[in-house]
Amino acid sequence: MGAGGGTTVMTVRGSAESVEARLAAGRLRSPCCSAALARWGWARRRVVAVPAGPEEFCPRRGKCRHCGKRMCCCLRFCGSDAGMARW
Ligand SMILES: [Zn+2]
Repeated sequence: MGAGGGTTVMTVRGSAESVEARLAAGRLRSPCCSAALARWGWARRRVVAVPAGPEEFCPRRGKCRHCGKRMCCCLRFCGSDAGMARW
């Protein structure tokens, strides 16, 4: 397993379903070029701490359609930074 070099972690609001829908619609923008993100598989399942306790999820990966840079879409739970996982 590599260290994930070159992958940018971006924080997105909303549920996993909401992220998926926005990704599919090309409405998530890359932080590098503000271009639409293309779907690019899934990151490994991991556990994040949320106010309600640990929760498992698979972060979505996206790729910038402009420069091809890969992103890992980190969910921001409950609109708070308190539950942010370290990547
Ligand atoms: Zn880009």
